[in-house]
Amino acid sequence: MWLFAVGFFVHLIFFCSVFDIYFRTPLIHGMTPQSHSLPPAARRVVLLVADGLRADVFFDYSNNTTRAPYLRSIIENNGTWGVSHTRVPTESRPGHVAIIAGLYEDPSAIAKGWKENPVEFDSVFNESRHTWCWGSPDILPMFAAGAERDHIEAFMYKAEEEDFASSDASRLDKWVFQNVESFFMKASKDKTVQDMLHEDRIVFFLHLLGLDTNGHAHKPHSKEYMKNIETVDAGIQKIVEIFENFYADHQTAYIFTSDHGMTDWGSHGAGDPSETETPIIAWGAGVAMPKDPSEFKEKMMYDARVERWGLTHVRRHDLHQADVAPLMASILGIPIPVNNVGKLHVEYLATSDEYKSEALFANARQMLAQYQQKRTQKEEETLPIFYWPFTILTPDKELEFLATIRNYLQTDQFDAANSDSQRLISVTQQGMDYYHNYDRLVLSVHIALGFLGWIFLIVCHLLKDHSAVLRMAGGTIEGRRVWRSSFLMALVLVVWGITNLTRLLGQHHPWQHYLYLMTPVGLWALVHQSCAPLRVAWLLLCSFNMVWEVAIRILFVFVGIEILVMAFFLRPMLSVGLLCVGLWPVIMYTMQGTVERSMRLVWIGACVLLASFTYMPVVGREAYYPMVEVAGLLAFMLGCIGIYWCGGEGGGHRHIPGVMYLQGLMVVCTVYLVHSTASSLSRKEGLPFANQWAAWILLVWQLSVLSLWLLDTSVFVQ
Ligand SMILES: [Zn+2]
Repeated sequence: MWLFAVGFFVHLIFFCSVFDIYFRTPLIHGMTPQSHSLPPAARRVVLLVADGLRADVFFDYSNNTTRAPYLRSIIENNGTWGVSHTRVPTESRPGHVAIIAGLYEDPSAIAKGWKENPVEFDSVFNESRHTWCWGSPDILPMFAAGAERDHIEAFMYKAEEEDFASSDASRLDKWVFQNVESFFMKASKDKTVQDMLHEDRIVFFLHLLGLDTNGHAHKPHSKEYMKNIETVDAGIQKIVEIFENFYADHQTAYIFTSDHGMTDWGSHGAGDPSETETPIIAWGAGVAMPKDPSEFKEKMMYDARVERWGLTHVRRHDLHQADVAPLMASILGIPIPVNNVGKLHVEYLATSDEYKSEALFANARQMLAQYQQKRTQKEEETLPIFYWPFTILTPDKELEFLATIRNYLQTDQFDAANSDSQRLISVTQQGMDYYHNYDRLVLSVHIALGFLGWIFLIVCHLLKDHSAVLRMAGGTIEGRRVWRSSFLMALVLVVWGITNLTRLLGQHHPWQHYLYLMTPVGLWALVHQSCAPLRVAWLLLCSFNMVWEVAIRILFVFVGIEILVMAFFLRPMLSVGLLCVGLWPVIMYTMQGTVERSMRLVWIGACVLLASFTYMPVVGREAYYPMVEVAGLLAFMLGCIGIYWCGGEGGGHRHIPGVMYLQGLMVVCTVYLVHSTASSLSRKEGLPFANQWAAWILLVWQLSVLSLWLLDTSVFVQ
């Protein structure tokens, strides 16, 4: 019983450690905002985010037709375009945070359900003089609510009203376009609003949710999704006209992008290219005009799809999603959000070389400020003997970097300044990762040692109570040797414990770290205390010459687990594992000769059949219900054969419990239920009420009967 309690406790600790080791917030506070001091390239930026718009569907130009004629003409005639690469998780919130704040979503937000703003972070909106946003209540509040000043104004439809678009989700986008239009109509009559609108450092944000909703409901190749792209394109054309008419000063920059893509089956969240690739188009004040790609030697950003998109004649420039934030900040001349990790792509700018270099230098200083803050923090909370600084970027080297770049800027050597700024940015990035993951190695080694300790403890317990090891030994252990090795292990444990305690007490550590660092020591102390059977077993193995055999078995287990792990990254590895399992009876046969020939063949055949599954698509495009029905009927037939076999020739006339027949009947009922629901759905009649109830009853019935039956141990043993 105590072993069970210890096991529960240990696994709980190890489970929580995952969050503390890997999901740590990258956010730090206390940096000074950095910006360049030149007159800004644009007085205002209009950010247009088409939620859930995937790049290849948007750029598609098959049959020489496009769904977005206006935006395509921008790409060809007066803007810069590319693919913006997002990161996992490809969800709306992290996507918008990357675009607007320049940081990849704080992973600790997972525990808080993504929705509200669980941590304070700086954003382009926050640094702007005024920001006006229109769109969904799922997205806007997290930027509006966190603002220190009262300068972010959000216009949203109510969450319940998202239903008003249930028949046609593109109405969500039309709502935004109409509201922007009426906002400017009203503004032209309101002096205070008009004055605000004519200031510089202004951001407008239009969040267009229609494509996301249509993608989920109808998939991204549907005519609804295509139609919605047309709506967005036409709406943006209208919006640009409104802005140009209202201001008439050519001081507006526009950025069109998306927060994430969408898979063929209408989902997002994972790392498939259909989810991570979104379009980006920038145009207007301060943004570079299209360039002929033959002038550049970039192979990286060119793939076969550019031909399919019919865009081989305009230079494509890709970026990472977080790079959009410093781009907007640099165009507006506002400080780059202090937690930004994005890099400014000067290729998007149509400004003087000096402007580009100054903006990039501001980006580098902003990143450096974060790095310095992180280093100071670590330095302060770590005991000197446990502190190893990041040697590539020491304070001396920082000063040297800054002085060199400043010198280049003063002497108009802008290319040299740019390449040094870029180098500084990438080194600070490494340094930030270094300090962010500073404790990771120590913690994960301890967690691994803890798991090993737990495994050894279990093995000791099994050998003592559930094996013949102690009886077989009968007092053959040599006393002196055991005593000496035991003393050595105790010494190691004491030194280990003292080192960890010094580290914990001398430094600032969260309380969980006490558990992570001390639990392994405790577990190994328990192993030390109860490891006598293990030693006996080892001596027995040596005397029977079985060490190699056991070692090979352990190796097999290890390889099997590794295959499972590799299958996460490489699905076909599962096939390799299954083929190995298929060979198992062959090996068993040569070893013991107990398996029947026909049984072996069936086993191998079944394993090979199963191995082919990893080559099938992960998720089908359409649900194929007949497959489910056939599977149910097969299960029913197998059940019948089982009952026949148990009760008949093979099983020696055993009693078949009535519940088996009932379960068989239930399988047939379930198959019928699937069939009737599927046909009702295909007739667009929705889920029948009776089917819903029947499904719930079947679920509860089957689970309860099965568990009651299994609890009857006599059956379980049988
Ligand atoms: Zn989204």
